[in-house]
Amino acid sequence: MRARTQVGIVGAGPAGLVLAHLLRQAGVSSVVLESRSREYVESRVRAGLIENRTVELLDRHGLADRLRERGMPHLGTELRSFGRRLRIPYGEGADGRAMVVYPQQDLVADLIRLWLDGGGELHFEVEDVSLAGLDGGRPVISYRYGGGVSREVECDLVAGCDGSHGVCRGHVPEGAMTELSQDIPIAWLGVLARIGPSTDEIIYSLHEHGFAGHMLRTSEVSRFYLQVRPGEPLEEWPDDRIWAELQARLQSPGWTLAEGPIFQKNVADMRSVVVEPMRWRSLFLLGDAAHIVPPTGAKGMNLAIGDAGVLAAAIAEWCAGGDARQLDEYSDACLTRVWRAQEFSLWMTALVHRMSDDPHQRRLQRARFDSLMASPAARRTFAESYAGLN
Ligand SMILES: Cc1cc2nc3c(=O)[nH]c(=O)nc-3n(C[C@H](O)[C@H](O)[C@H](O)COP(=O)(O)OP(=O)(O)OC[C@H]3O[C@@H](n4cnc5c(N)ncnc54)[C@H](O)[C@@H]3O)c2cc1C
Repeated sequence: MRARTQVGIVGAGPAGLVLAHLLRQAGVSSVVLESRSREYVESRVRAGLIENRTVELLDRHGLADRLRERGMPHLGTELRSFGRRLRIPYGEGADGRAMVVYPQQDLVADLIRLWLDGGGELHFEVEDVSLAGLDGGRPVISYRYGGGVSREVECDLVAGCDGSHGVCRGHVPEGAMTELSQDIPIAWLGVLARIGPSTDEIIYSLHEHGFAGHMLRTSEVSRFYLQVRPGEPLEEWPDDRIWAELQARLQSPGWTLAEGPIFQKNVADMRSVVVEPMRWRSLFLLGDAAHIVPPTGAKGMNLAIGDAGVLAAAIAEWCAGGDARQLDEYSDACLTRVWRAQEFSLWMTALVHRMSDDPHQRRLQRARFDSLMASPAARRTFAESYAGLN
């Protein structure tokens, strides 16, 4: 079976789904292919903090109703470092514009529902996705679904939105893209607990034992992170040890951390990776398929959706008038923001984690925190970068 569409989208994460919606609104057809089940992608726990410009983009395209209704506005972040506390309101650089706390899986579920309700084509649990004809002629995506039915989709362009372990990038010939990366020698143990937040705003805390984070999700569920070694076995972290470490690392006089049943935990290694350029011939890479940021700065999903906004506009222009200028500029247009997010995320990672036992490095780390304490300009710069205001 061979179908025909204008844009073949591989991956139904935030990048692929937002791209599909924006293209449909511009009158461009697409088919979305996803290797996991609908239940899986709608319950996969990841990001939770959405920048104001991402909310505005979703709003402009009528994709943010549920997010506006259920998301929690978020106006500041608290940093704790060896007993000192510093609240940084985004108002110092944000003109009062809020970020929104809304679980990534809920946004994905909203986007899927709206896409299918509007008659969009999306195949879950596809297997053996393979690309051909990217280099001239018409690209064809072949795959199997529904218990082994082979299918092909012929398209004008392919959007590789298949995340950091996807297959699209593997179809680019060696040497046509460059991967620039930096190893980060730490990982996050992420925990979901059935307990309301003990704070109104996100807390990043540096302690002698390492980083701990108290993130927000909903009024009944909170997300916590602990700095651990890369590849740390989960068996080493029974619930009582997790709570003891969170209590120790987040402690602050006059503040108490409420505990509740832990119902999910995982360890995620940290990486900083950028693939350049983000396009090869008819293949465009978006989101985690092209770049991974350490999660400290909460940028990954925002960058993925930002890429979708840039590519959708370029494809719409190309389809409307045949002008390929924006398509040619797609990679450069995205990479400026991507590199700035990498820089900020690495800086912030170094600010709040125990990166080294070297006393010289640790004094420098303390000096970074001192600068934030002392300087409104430094706090304003932080707020601009964190809340994604420039
Ligand atoms: C612990 C953690 C916390 C995070 N916190 C934040 C945060 O607060 N804010 C933020 O902005 N970001 C955060 N991120 C990052 C964010 O989750 C990712 O950057 C985001 O999911 C990227 O979206 P994407 O659409 O590019 O990729 P993905 O969400 O990974 O979607 C890719 C999709 O492609 C599918 N796929 C893969 N291979 C194939 C194939 N061969 N065929 C078809 N489909 C395929 C996958 O199943 C998946 O559904 C966090 C990440 C982690 C791990």
